[in-house]
Amino acid sequence: MSRIAYVNGRYVPHREAAVHVEDRGYQFADGVYEVCEVRAGRLIDERRHMERLQRSLSELRIAMPMSLPALSVVLHEVVRRNGVRDGIVYLQITRGVAKRDHPFPPEGTRPAIVVTASRIDPAKIERFAADGIAVVTVPDNRWDRVDIKSIALLPNILAKQTAREQGAREAWFVDAAGNVTEGSSSNAWIVTSGNQVVTRTTDGTILKGITRTVLLDVLKAHDLTLVERPFTVAEAIGAREAFITSASQSVMPVVRIDGKPVGNGAPGLIATALRADFHSYAEKS
Ligand code: PLP
Repeated sequence: MSRIAYVNGRYVPHREAAVHVEDRGYQFADGVYEVCEVRAGRLIDERRHMERLQRSLSELRIAMPMSLPALSVVLHEVVRRNGVRDGIVYLQITRGVAKRDHPFPPEGTRPAIVVTASRIDPAKIERFAADGIAVVTVPDNRWDRVDIKSIALLPNILAKQTAREQGAREAWFVDAAGNVTEGSSSNAWIVTSGNQVVTRTTDGTILKGITRTVLLDVLKAHDLTLVERPFTVAEAIGAREAFITSASQSVMPVVRIDGKPVGNGAPGLIATALRADFHSYAEKS
């Protein structure tokens, strides 16, 4: 089945899908995005992802290019046309196409929208989850609006590349006080020796992950105590467990941080249980 992308109102073959050279996303990273997991052909937590999309757009004063119901049809249609059962659907909205100039483009410039879908082999992700992943830490050198899911991701790209070059799957950003903020494309969590589940509060220094939000319900159902507070790299290395959350990986155990084992160096029981239960609490559409 050949891949199809949705670009500004048209479904086009993926290899021909293109945006204008003066798209402000291309020139200025002036746009936002969302990634929804697709599982068994259904979108996971679409409603929450669309809520966050609207917030990101409104913080940047970019208009929503179409109604939410229409957007939902497009997302499902792209998934269907690409025959994706398990994978992700990617949505990007930019401030549109205009002559290159830093201020906002003229009134009436239409935001540009792209939607793609791709398959991810669930067995591959399960293998990572079974083994657990390694993370490395890097200084958090991002701007102070990381609560917006902006397509400006250079620090995240450099951080992820550092991780890959050191044989790790993810990089954790560390703030000036030595506390972990979040991953380059995930939220960061630890489990203490007292079985408290700790993650940073959504105080503007992290992206409020949708997986993070849903996991709070899973924690309640498991009678686990949640503590929203910062934690240091040393505390994470000495923790009983560590894990990350993101739409494409749900709950992923972390077994090494900066080359040092977390707990006994194997995926933790709590992370594994939360992963097993996550989708019972997620919305499917
Ligand atoms: N933090 C960052 C910086 C991210 O890029 C992501 C996801 O891409 C997340 C956290 C996790 O968010 P979500 O659970 O909504 O995928």
